[in-house]
Amino acid sequence: MALTAEQLDRHKRHLLLKEIGGPGVQKLRAAKVTIIGAGALGGPCALYLAAAGVGEIEIWDDDVVDRSNLQRQVQFTEADIDRSKAEILGDRLQALNPDVKVSVQTQRFAPGADLLGAILIDATDNFETRFALNALAHESGRYLVSGAASRWTGQISVYASGVDTDAPCYACFVPELPPEAEACDDVGVVGALTGMVGTRMALEAIKIVAGAGKPLIGRLLIIDGLSGESRVLKLRPNPDCSVCSR
Ligand SMILES: [Zn+2]
Repeated sequence: MALTAEQLDRHKRHLLLKEIGGPGVQKLRAAKVTIIGAGALGGPCALYLAAAGVGEIEIWDDDVVDRSNLQRQVQFTEADIDRSKAEILGDRLQALNPDVKVSVQTQRFAPGADLLGAILIDATDNFETRFALNALAHESGRYLVSGAASRWTGQISVYASGVDTDAPCYACFVPELPPEAEACDDVGVVGALTGMVGTRMALEAIKIVAGAGKPLIGRLLIIDGLSGESRVLKLRPNPDCSVCSR
């Protein structure tokens, strides 16, 4: 469908980019993305995807806003404390871009859940959900854009084993719960770093949809906030992976 004058105006800076342009904006309008987690990673990710005009965005989160979230979950305000994160974030997206069809799930994601998106965004903070999302993405042939942040370090990758047989899945990289796994509740995390990881996940999703550049498939981007340096590790498929080996 042709863009209206308002939509041309809204998406002008993307229309100017040769890697996105008119075809990319149309692909974004037709795209469906599911974001698991409406917190520190999911918030900025969802805002940038709505701003980019992603056609349908589904948000899952069963949590409510706590004052201790506001240090990094900048999509919320004091007035949102004790209210549903998924519902408030959904309202923010709708206010930012009324063209986006937003749906909200206020229950916790569980294996077997029926997800809307062809791209899944793992913006959670626990390994159990990460493993379940990875298995679902692999089995159903979807992209999984995954991000994590702890202390001063952030990680982003795209797992595409269900789409590309040469690509590793999350379980190739992390086969089981790491014994030293730590939650940011216990060790702390810099708020601004979570914003970087969330927006990097949005960037990867936009690249996948628009067919722009090289998504972080088979590569893990590590951001070291303290040193100001980033590096990229190669991830390879594990022939003995319990999820994707073939
Ligand atoms: Zn695997």
